[in-house]
Amino acid sequence: MTLAVRASEGVGELVAELSISAGWVVDPATGREGPADLVVRDGILEALTWLEADDAGGVDGRGIVVAPGFVDLHAHFREPGNEDAETIASGSAAAAHGGFTTVCLMPNTRPALDEPSVLARIQAAAGASGSPVRLLALGAVSAGRAGDQLAALGELADAGVVGFSDDGAPVRSPSLLRSALAYAGALGLPVIDHAEDLSLTAGAEANDALVATVLGLSGWPAAAEESAVARDLALLADVVRDVPGARLHLTHLSTAGSLDLVRRAKAAGLPVTCDVTPHHLALTDEWLAGARRWAWEAGEDPWRDEAIVAPPYDPSLRVNPPLRSAADAAACLEALLDGTADAVATDHAPHTLVDKQVEFGLAANGISGIETALGLLLAAVDAGELPLARAIEALTAGPARVLGSRFGRPIGLVEGRPADLVVFDHSEAWTVGPDTLRSRGKNSPLVGRELSGRVLLTVAAGRVAYQPD
Ligand SMILES: [Zn+2]
Repeated sequence: MTLAVRASEGVGELVAELSISAGWVVDPATGREGPADLVVRDGILEALTWLEADDAGGVDGRGIVVAPGFVDLHAHFREPGNEDAETIASGSAAAAHGGFTTVCLMPNTRPALDEPSVLARIQAAAGASGSPVRLLALGAVSAGRAGDQLAALGELADAGVVGFSDDGAPVRSPSLLRSALAYAGALGLPVIDHAEDLSLTAGAEANDALVATVLGLSGWPAAAEESAVARDLALLADVVRDVPGARLHLTHLSTAGSLDLVRRAKAAGLPVTCDVTPHHLALTDEWLAGARRWAWEAGEDPWRDEAIVAPPYDPSLRVNPPLRSAADAAACLEALLDGTADAVATDHAPHTLVDKQVEFGLAANGISGIETALGLLLAAVDAGELPLARAIEALTAGPARVLGSRFGRPIGLVEGRPADLVVFDHSEAWTVGPDTLRSRGKNSPLVGRELSGRVLLTVAAGRVAYQPD
């Protein structure tokens, strides 16, 4: 396999010429995967030529892989309001390093994205960053994300938001969510809910199970998520009778029970979609105790298994929803395999050290995860838990379909269109660390760990988004 790039001076520059011969190409839009040659000229994907296996010299999916640029349905770039944690520019650089070329930003900035002027600020910052990574935005469901009254959904839709969410928090009031589903549905947009019953999670720190008990952390019950999912689905079923365009997307589902509720709702024909995060399918609550096994390697009791290799209470593991059991993580994988989960979304949540390096229960929730998403999915692929093509689909065609017409371009590797792709070396490892992460948020439990799938090049809209120094 050879990879040749010419005249790409740096980020933002048009790719004058890129030729890849005998790379392993995965294109979920056509369902095709195999060795292929690929030529990009002046930013346009000029040719994608599939090769016969005999001509490809034993190339397979363990070497250089070419895929459409990844799409993240859920990220926090913190600008405006908390630029110490992340900016539009640093978040875009991190996204490109992770292989992402389209990112949906959550509206829990300060101020919240509850009116078009905030979106204009974000778009101006995106333009000034010079990054070709495309940023889409969610508008807030409620004014100021306060949960009291609806934000100006119509104005936000006219300004170009791709959906509505109060993420960071659930839409607490059932009647408000009901109205939001109806109005957003009439506008042709989804409501993305963070499913959590706050009355069940006040003071909660860790998944309500053995590890929390042993560590003395207060329990975060699965029922807090599942009861919210059940409520949301009931409201959707009610609204969709009058507003056929109503759509609900449930983000970062983390329990077997939640995914089962969505599985049954989909089977009943409800217009619901959902995503799972890389950390909820690859990590479990035993990491809080100091175990570092992947979810598919985990047992019942990390102490009995003598699996403890790190100090307990690492605050980088505090996340909402919390890391769950091995059975829940397996359910996240199962949901990807059977299509219950439509996408993997990163919930990239960068924080400053000040907000994170404190006592576990006081740490801000979240993992800086947009650069490690590919590596965590490849860990599952390498363990035989997930086919490579499904992992790529969950990062590309899956989330693009959730966005529907708001994705705004053809899905996949389409000849004659601006090139939008990622090239990574599946077998080449890189070490996660403060120097290798482009995000300002260094809050990752994977710091110090090697992940496979080093990204060699990300091209967004025909322009260089990332290439190694
Ligand atoms: Zn959330």
